[in-house]
Amino acid sequence: MSDTIKPRIIVVGGGAAGLMAAGAAAMNGARVLLLEKMKQPGRKLAITGKGRCNLSNSADIAGCIEHFGKNGRFLRQALQAFSNHDLIEFFATLGLETVTERGGRIFPVNGKAPEVVQVLRQWLKKSGATIRLSTPVEKLLLENNRIVGVVANGATFAGSALILATGGLSYPVTGSTGDGYRLAESVGHHIIPVRPALIPLLSSDSSLKNLAGLSLRNVNVRLFIKQKKVKEILGELLFTEDGISGPTVLTLSGMAVDALANQDEVSISIDLKPALDEPKLEARLLRDLQTRSKETLHSLLRGLLPQELVGTCLERNSINPDCCGHQVTQAQRKRLRAWLKDFRLPISGCRSMAEAIVTAGGVDTKEIDPRTMGSRLIKNLFFAGELIDLQADTGGFNLQAAFSSGHLAGTAAARELDYAP
Ligand SMILES: Cc1cc2nc3c(=O)[nH]c(=O)nc-3n(C[C@H](O)[C@H](O)[C@H](O)COP(=O)(O)OP(=O)(O)OC[C@H]3O[C@@H](n4cnc5c(N)ncnc54)[C@H](O)[C@@H]3O)c2cc1C
Repeated sequence: MSDTIKPRIIVVGGGAAGLMAAGAAAMNGARVLLLEKMKQPGRKLAITGKGRCNLSNSADIAGCIEHFGKNGRFLRQALQAFSNHDLIEFFATLGLETVTERGGRIFPVNGKAPEVVQVLRQWLKKSGATIRLSTPVEKLLLENNRIVGVVANGATFAGSALILATGGLSYPVTGSTGDGYRLAESVGHHIIPVRPALIPLLSSDSSLKNLAGLSLRNVNVRLFIKQKKVKEILGELLFTEDGISGPTVLTLSGMAVDALANQDEVSISIDLKPALDEPKLEARLLRDLQTRSKETLHSLLRGLLPQELVGTCLERNSINPDCCGHQVTQAQRKRLRAWLKDFRLPISGCRSMAEAIVTAGGVDTKEIDPRTMGSRLIKNLFFAGELIDLQADTGGFNLQAAFSSGHLAGTAAARELDYAP
């Protein structure tokens, strides 16, 4: 080995998971070298939460696990070892206070994601860990089924344990270009096929071109697969040039993407009036049509819908916009009512992987010990963060998972090398 520093634990990737893993290992007495391929660490972390960094969620462990779907249970020990409360306290001791907002979402009080990165970097420096930037790891070195080092920029770095924290495949400009999948595979790990999650959906529906930019709040968004409702979420939806986005759609997108890959028919139904059940909506329509009988339907509907949606509503229901309240037939009223509860959009696909908020799939959780994040195949190899086949809804769960798995991997790797008690 040509490396003169002789680091004991090598962490590959300086995102949320890698920074936490490196610091936790160093705080447990280990000599740590963090290798990051970009010029700066934490590029993705610095743009999270629309620049505000939704770093965790106040849900309890069971609640948090639920948001990860079928693999959620894998995270239990990591969350127990380093919970959302631990994370909040951790940042507080570093001078970064947090605040809990709607839906339990936790943000830094100052609302500045780059500061989260800065605080982590300062902590890392204090911990004694060394960080080497612009150093993309290209190869893992394996001898007698143990990692002995890595190759990066053509140089060899010796290590007695390795933590892989290279992230997923989305937002590749931040450095997460999927290297970790190839590296993990090269030493025998199985990768669950990667696909985009938390991603805007595409629809070829012609009404979308008039709606781009419109955001609807408090609508009930339902996902239909093979014409069967599989999930619904109340919240915000955003119309885009080519489809739909917003928190509700992003949350439903993972299931939609999997169904599309399966060639299943997928549609989204928007209940524009979730607070009014069918009888209440019927009563409301009748009242409006009677009391404002001389007004055109175009003007009358503005009391029920955002202006941008009125034209689409009338077009979809084949009603003349100049038709007055008293001219609306019973059949038209029925169609109107049904549409307000079920504005249906066929879904044809999703945006590209590069635009996904998280990557679904990754290193198979069956091959990782949830008590340590250690590989079940190679004793001194550990995993952390989005590289693992784990993905959650929006709400701060993905970052909490990165921090918790990183903390556990760092602590366990230090223990593996007899540093930590
Ligand atoms: C726009 C956007 C907003 C988001 N907002 C939120 C939010 O508010 N809340 C939330 O919970 N989640 C959010 N997420 C998801 C969250 O950011 C990720 O789940 C999380 O950052 C994953 O952390 P990680 O450390 O595993 O991976 P990353 O943060 O992607 O870090 C991986 C690091 O590894 C480095 N790397 C890769 N390959 C190599 C290599 N070969 N050698 C050396 N280094 C390498 C990369 O350069 C990168 O620095 C958001 C994601 C995006 C894209």
